[in-house]
Amino acid sequence: MNPRVAITVAATDGRPKPVRKPLFFLGLFTVESWREFKRHGGQVMGFNEKKSKTVARLQPGDRILCYLSKVSAFVGVMEVAGPSYLDHTPIWSDGVFPVRLPVRIVTELPLVLAVPIHSLKGQLSFLPLTMTTTGWTIYVRSSPRPWTAPDGEAVAKALAARLPLAQDSASEINRVEATQSKPRKRIKLPLTARVGRLIQRTELMVSAEPAGSLGSYDNVLSGNKVTGYSVNVPIAETCLPTAMCMKTCYFAVGAPSWSNSLRHQRKVHASMQSDPVAFAERVAMEYDSLGLTFIRWNGGGDLFEESVTTVNYLAKMRPDLVIWVVTRIPKWAALIEQAPNVFVHFSLDKHSLSRRESFLEHKPRTANYFFSYQCDAGEVPPLENLKNVAVLFFDNYRPTTDLAQYPADVVCPLNTVSDITGVCERCRRCFNGAAVDS
Ligand code: SF4
Repeated sequence: MNPRVAITVAATDGRPKPVRKPLFFLGLFTVESWREFKRHGGQVMGFNEKKSKTVARLQPGDRILCYLSKVSAFVGVMEVAGPSYLDHTPIWSDGVFPVRLPVRIVTELPLVLAVPIHSLKGQLSFLPLTMTTTGWTIYVRSSPRPWTAPDGEAVAKALAARLPLAQDSASEINRVEATQSKPRKRIKLPLTARVGRLIQRTELMVSAEPAGSLGSYDNVLSGNKVTGYSVNVPIAETCLPTAMCMKTCYFAVGAPSWSNSLRHQRKVHASMQSDPVAFAERVAMEYDSLGLTFIRWNGGGDLFEESVTTVNYLAKMRPDLVIWVVTRIPKWAALIEQAPNVFVHFSLDKHSLSRRESFLEHKPRTANYFFSYQCDAGEVPPLENLKNVAVLFFDNYRPTTDLAQYPADVVCPLNTVSDITGVCERCRRCFNGAAVDS
């Protein structure tokens, strides 16, 4: 039955009596409460007691638009399947929500494909193309909130348009779940090295407290004024540091090495290891809600088995996301699959030039890769070290010599500007194909 057609029931006088058309309502979830709802069978929606009168207005056939707060995206449409009732059976970790409503999922997208509300600008009555204020958020602050039929239908249509991609997601998830991680050997480095000290601190933290997992309100991505938003993981758990990294790694000192940052990196790492698909979904939703145009994979830390899986899954499911993968590990870098939206940036220095050959010997699955060269403190890079190098960085972005001797497009602009804020966002060479093509 078409739910938008008026339902008729037999009246007591024997004549059909028209009843109201099904209405649209907004239903609020967090990523976690959506998962808990699904784990419980996806047939019971819950609300606070003070919402009982509003919930009683919902009738079988009414539609609930499933909206994820914080990430500001729609993940499905449900149909009310019966009258509300009171029940205190635990379902959700952040509350009892005892006013229960039987529901049936009509349309559902994997979280990685959730439709950001911003993508519906110009299609929703309260969200015109020109909207620059946050006045629209009143429409998504409470639930169940009545929505107009045209707005509800616009959401339902946008979700339906992504359904074909959801089929790919199911087969990709099966493939991802078939992968098995192997324990990684611990790296031992001297405590005189910057990275050695950080690894020791991380190990002390590991023995004192478990990594835990990201809560619903934790951000997955970390912001950086130079390179934008990134996925950061612990050096101690993921990196294969070169002799130069050990001394000069910028991520082993300052804010990224503070306890809270390390704790967050460990949570990101643990979450990706335990569920690469769920992690990819969170990255996609955060990317959308922040309105990003690229992310850097490994602002700190490096690739590992599950992060390769995550990048490959994310790239395939969301070809509109631009992913800049920075790495120094040949075997993992080679497993990043060809995708037009993923750029593998393999970082070399004078101690690790042989990793270039190692990466090539591993037969990279993507042609979208390039090499960069990171200078040591005070190093004047010899031209023979820069063969096949697309991007050159000086230590601390401070050139040690006349730059005219190097091809102009190879010298990263970070070495030449006085204010490095937002330079990557403007330059984009590492993630728009220019470095790959050079
Ligand atoms: S070349 Fe451009 S995109 Fe790459 S690191 Fe430098 S500024 Fe950023």
